[in-house]
Order: sequence, then C-alpha cells, then structure tokens
Amino acid sequence: MKNQQNKLRILTGDTPTGRLHLGHLVGSLENRVLMQNDYDCYFLIANVHAFTTRMDKPDDIHQSVIDIAIDYLAAGIDPQKSTIFLQSEIPAIAELTFFFSMLIPYPRLMRNPTIKDEIRDKGLGDNYPFGFLLYPVGQVADILAFRPAFVPVGEDQVPHLEMAREVARRFNQLYCHVDPHTEDADYLKKGGLFPIIEVKLGRSHRLVGIGAPGPDGNLYKMSKSLNNYILLSDDSDTVQQKVMSMYTDPKRLKSTYKGSIENNPLWIFHETFNPDKIWVEEAKERYRNGMIGDVECKKRLIEVLVALIQPMRQRRLQYEKDMNYIQSVLKEGTAKANVLAAHTLILAKEAMKQRYY
Ligand code: ATP
Ligand code: MG
Repeated sequence: MKNQQNKLRILTGDTPTGRLHLGHLVGSLENRVLMQNDYDCYFLIANVHAFTTRMDKPDDIHQSVIDIAIDYLAAGIDPQKSTIFLQSEIPAIAELTFFFSMLIPYPRLMRNPTIKDEIRDKGLGDNYPFGFLLYPVGQVADILAFRPAFVPVGEDQVPHLEMAREVARRFNQLYCHVDPHTEDADYLKKGGLFPIIEVKLGRSHRLVGIGAPGPDGNLYKMSKSLNNYILLSDDSDTVQQKVMSMYTDPKRLKSTYKGSIENNPLWIFHETFNPDKIWVEEAKERYRNGMIGDVECKKRLIEVLVALIQPMRQRRLQYEKDMNYIQSVLKEGTAKANVLAAHTLILAKEAMKQRYY
C-alpha cells in the first residue's frame, strides 16, 4: 500500500469512451489533483473496457485515449508526481481478471446495480457482450493489481468497489489463510496480500447531466455515453449553447415564474460550481418566488463555467501540439505501472501455489 517514500497508494481511472466532463471533475479528478502531492498516484486509462460497449469503434477508442491523457494534464495531473498508464499494456491485469472471476458468483455479478443501470441507460438491451459482464471483474483486477489504500471515484462506482473489497477478503482468506473474522483494516497485518480498499468520493458524488429526467422522474447522471455533458474541453460558445438549452423546471408557471429548485440541473450546477454562495442563496429564493428568470440564472452559470473551463481548455490546446510528449507520458507511466502489477501477480501466484520454478 506504500511506496519507498512511505506514501500511501491510490488508484483510479476512466474509460476512454469520450472526453472528460464536469462530472469527472467533481466526482474524482479534482480529488486526484489535490491528492497527488501526498499520495503515490496511479491513473489508469481503461481502453480494454471501452471495447465492452464500442467494440466496433477502435478509431474512436484510440482518439479517446489521447483525449483523456490530455484532459488529465490540462486538469492539473502532473506526470512527475502521478503515473498515467494504459490498461491494455498491463498483462498482469488480464491474468488477475481470470483468477478473480472464480471468486465472484455469477448471481452476485448480476445483482450489481451499476450493471443494471448501465444496461438500461446505455440502451444495451439483451445484446451486450459477455465481456460487458466481465468488466466489473476486470475492474477488481485493475484496482487490486496495484494494492492501493484508496480509490477516488464517483458514486456509480461504489458497487464495483464493494466487489473489489469482497474479492480481496475472499482471496486473503482462501489463499493467505487470513481468519474470516478479521477486521478490514487488519487484513494485511494478518498476512493477507490484498488491502480491503477504501472508497474516496468527490465533493459531488453524482453530478447530473444537462438533459431531462428519465421515465422514473430521476435525472440521469452526467455521462460520456448519454450526450448530456459539458466537457472540460468545450469552448465558450459550446458552453453557452449547452447551458441555454439545459433542462430546468418545466412546471414553472409562465404567469408567475415560480420555480422549483429540487431536481433542477440549473440549481444543482450553481450549487456545485458557483463560488458566489451568497448570490446563489438569494437567487434561489427569488427563483422560488418567481422573481428571477431562467435566462438570467443561466447567463450567470455560463460565466461561472467558462471561467472554470477556459484555463483547462487553453492548456489542452498547448498539449495537443505536442503528441510526442503525450506518448512519452503514456509510455513511461505504463512501464512504471507494469513493474508494480507484475510483482503483485507473482505474489498472487505464490499465494495460489502456482509457481513451479
Ligand atoms: P461512460 O458513459 O462511458 O460510462 P462516464 O461518464 O460514466 O462514461 P467513466 O469513465 O465511467 O465515465 O467514469 C470515470 C470516473 O468518473 C468514475 O470514478 C466515475 O464514478 C466518475 N464519474 C463519471 N460520471 C460522473 C458524474 N456524473 N458525477 C460524479 N462522478 C462521475
Ligand atoms: Mg461510467
């Protein structure tokens, strides 16, 4: 769990199914930027998992990997401090996935609420590949290959991380002979190989998207796959156009303009991103009483979001001009990540009595 400088390790990542959006920022990315001084950070780009829903779009996945690496750097991840790496180049992850798949009962996998939500929200119907069901197991391997202490993620990942905790306990009990009554925090002390990782949620656990709610009345989470996002790389005109067309309160009575704050992305966004808390509280009150229009509140939000996104966008434009640098970040990060993951695999095989020479 610690490196030579005695720093605790963290591991997290993103699937290259598009560029990073505001949900990523407040769900996980911000936390990563803050933690990189004090923790040994590993950030994985899950390009193998992108194939679970985009197996017919290899070019898109390729471009998306580059985009996400650039988004990381633009958001302030520093490759001198943090390790950015490619999932497909870490063979130990694939090998561990196979072994871990024996430790997760199939019905347990199907009870995972995130899997059910994704099948519904991404319209996968009955046509998702077997690999789609395998990806949560793969994610357990992504995490445990690095034996981190913390995993900073958004709320939708919590069920997956619970599986990582279950697999770690089971592995430690079966192959390292740790007593099943052991407290989570004590597994390593008692001879276990894998830590029972802790989830670290961002300041917004689940940022909603800019679109209308689903049939159940709930707003969707902002998601790369749902086209309801504002990207960290959107230009000012795009931010303006997206905010102006953002879903607000449809029940707002035209005559009185009384509006509801709850379940309203306009106010969720102001609360999350607007640093002027006094304005937000006053404006919410006026909105409830029909004293302020949608357009005025949206214009404020545009200013706030453009001020947040523009510096990242400027840095991105610089990085886009230097693909050699981006490649070197990925190559060096992946080489470093491989050393750690390969070592974990050796230790796992040793515990499973599968080393013969
Ligand atoms: P996809 O639609 O392809 O699933 P995504 O937008 O859900 O993409 P992921 O790559 O699945 O993004 O998630 C990367 C990380 O960002 C995870 O830790 C996830 O919990 C977090 N995250 C994604 N969307 C949000 C959101 N709307 N609010 C908070 N955190 C989020
Ligand atoms: Mg997702």
